[in-house]
Amino acid sequence: MRIDLHTHSSVSDGTDTPTQLVRKAAEQGLDVIGLTDHDTFDGLREAKLAAGADVVVLPGLEMSCQLDGASVHLLGYGCDPHYEPLLDELARVRVGRTGRLPEMLAKLAALGMPLTEDDIAQQVGASPSLGRPHVADAMVAKGYVADRQEAFDKYLYDGGPAYANRYSCDIRRGIELVRQARGVPVVAHPWGRGRDRELTPAVLSELAMEYRLEGVEVDHPDHSAQTRAALRPLAERLGLLALGSSDHHGLGKVDHELACETTPVEVYDELVRRIRSRGGQL
Ligand code: AMP
Ligand code: ZN
Ligand code: FE
Ligand code: FE
Repeated sequence: MRIDLHTHSSVSDGTDTPTQLVRKAAEQGLDVIGLTDHDTFDGLREAKLAAGADVVVLPGLEMSCQLDGASVHLLGYGCDPHYEPLLDELARVRVGRTGRLPEMLAKLAALGMPLTEDDIAQQVGASPSLGRPHVADAMVAKGYVADRQEAFDKYLYDGGPAYANRYSCDIRRGIELVRQARGVPVVAHPWGRGRDRELTPAVLSELAMEYRLEGVEVDHPDHSAQTRAALRPLAERLGLLALGSSDHHGLGKVDHELACETTPVEVYDELVRRIRSRGGQL
C-alpha cells in the first residue's frame, strides 16, 4: 500500500482542486491520500466524492499554530468537522490571514511592487484560507518574480521584507482541540526550516507526555537525512507515530511531488484504529 497523508488543494494554497488532487493520487497508484488544507475542512467533501473506490481520502487539516512566537504546523487527522470550539479557532486563524494583507501590501508597495487587494483576490479564488503563496502568485502574475519560490526566498519568508505576522493558535491549545474533536494530533515537519530551535526534544517530550501529542512527521522533504536519523529514534522513545508525507501543493512548491514520501502501512493502520476507537471522522 502507498500512503501520502499530507497534501494541499486549492481550498487552501495548493494548485489542484480536491477532485484533481484525488485523480492525480489514483493515477500515481496511491491507495490513501490525506487532505490537510490549512485551517479549513472545506475541501474534504469534494475529495471524498471524487475518490470513489479508487483511493481512500483520510480527512485531515493543517492548523497554523505557534510556539513561543515561532510558526509551527499541527496536523489533525480524523477530526469531527463540526466540533464548534475547533471551528471557532480555525475561523479566528483565517480572519488573521486576511487581516495581515494590508500590511503585506504596504510593504510590497514600499519595495516597488504595488498590488491591490483585487490582484490577491484573483489568486485566492474561492479558497477560504488566504496564504502567502497567493500573494506570491499575484507577484508572479505582475512579473515581479519568476515563481513562488523566488517570492518566498526574497520577500515573503518568515521575518522577510514583505512578511507580516498574523494570529495563530498556541500549539498546546491546538493539540487539545484536535483531541477534543476526536482526532489524532501530529506535528508537521517539526525540524524543517529551523524549527528545531523551538521544537526541542524537551518540548516534544512535554507535548507528548502532558498534552498527548500522538505523532510527528519524520520523512518530509524539508528534513535532511541527518535530521530524519535524529528524529526517528526520538519519536520512538516518546511513543510517537512517525509519519512520512510529501506536503504536496500542486505546481506551487518544488520538491514536494505527490507520493515523494510515504507513511508505512502499520503506522497508517494504527492512526485509523485510534480515530475509529474514539469515534472520529473517517
Ligand atoms: P502562510 O500560511 O500564509 O503563513 O504561508 C505558509 C505557506 O507558505 C506554507 O504552508 C507553505 O506552503 C509556504 N511557505 C512558507 N515558507 C516558505 C518558503 N520559505 N518557501 C516556499 N514556500 C513557503
Ligand atoms: Zn501551504
Ligand atoms: Fe506546513
Ligand atoms: Fe502543509
